[in-house]
Amino acid sequence: MTNLHSEHESGQSPSHTSDPVVANGDKTQGVLYVVATPIGNLDDVSDRMRHTLANVERIAAEDTRRTRSLLSHIGVNTPCFSLHEHNERQKLDYIVQCLDKGESIALVSDAGTPLISDPGYPVVHELRKLGFRVVPVPGACAFVAALSVSGLPSDRFYFEGFLPSKQGARLKRLKELSTESATQIFYESSHRIRACLEDIAVAMGAEREVVIARELTKTFETVLGGSVNSLIEILDSDSNQSRGEFVVLIKGAERQKEVLSEESKNLAIKLSEHLPGKKAAKITAEVFGDKKNQIYQYLLEQNRD
Ligand code: SAM
Repeated sequence: MTNLHSEHESGQSPSHTSDPVVANGDKTQGVLYVVATPIGNLDDVSDRMRHTLANVERIAAEDTRRTRSLLSHIGVNTPCFSLHEHNERQKLDYIVQCLDKGESIALVSDAGTPLISDPGYPVVHELRKLGFRVVPVPGACAFVAALSVSGLPSDRFYFEGFLPSKQGARLKRLKELSTESATQIFYESSHRIRACLEDIAVAMGAEREVVIARELTKTFETVLGGSVNSLIEILDSDSNQSRGEFVVLIKGAERQKEVLSEESKNLAIKLSEHLPGKKAAKITAEVFGDKKNQIYQYLLEQNRD
């Protein structure tokens, strides 16, 4: 089977008929499927994932040994070739040749969604530029799983991936992010988790709310939340809490209420003596770059006094 996507479009799986990926329409070309794999729990293998991996001609795998062990667990024996951060540009020509011959390829990483702190970006970028069809087969992603259970605001978030491993650079980056009001999300390893929490305390204050999600979907899954200092205390009192893979989530900084400058207030008041309040606010906002609603609110408050 070469183009699983057209099979879906032919009606076997109605939920895929609205897939937005449209390439050059050449049905003789193969498709690149970007396939998410489990982040620990093999029961998270979906039917669509298994079907895709079983029916493509080849699998581009970050670590072929790890992928073969997953494939043997799900009873698939599709050939694999390696595609990792050091060879992904060189492998591009080979992938293009395969797709041109009409062979489809699945891209997988060691765990979770490819390209998310994992290889694959240059390949997907180039293939889309060349007009090939690239189709997602979604599934597990550690940071999305962590955010969904963290209890931190999920309406706006910022995903950083891995922080720098050197302490100075890590602290500098955390200081830069200290005023960010969206929830911030990082990947972290067991040997740096404590140092990372200490740097968060220094950069953002010991009381900043943090959640650490450890070993998600695995036997020792643990999600701990509280002030960053309280989490450091937990790690210090129980060495097991530093083991495994981590997602670190930081509650965003409280938004500072923007203050109108005296010049802005004076101009708004002057203009409002001759113009309707909304017009006065609009002009003042254009002059000083403030928010017109905030100026209008200020004018209403002045009228009330
Ligand atoms: N592509 C993957 C994804 O979709 O989540 C992430 C790959 S990145 C190289 C690996 C990092 O993801 C780990 O160091 C850890 O920070 C995080 N991670 C992966 N699996 C995890 C799990 N089961 N629980 C917590 N964090 C996990």
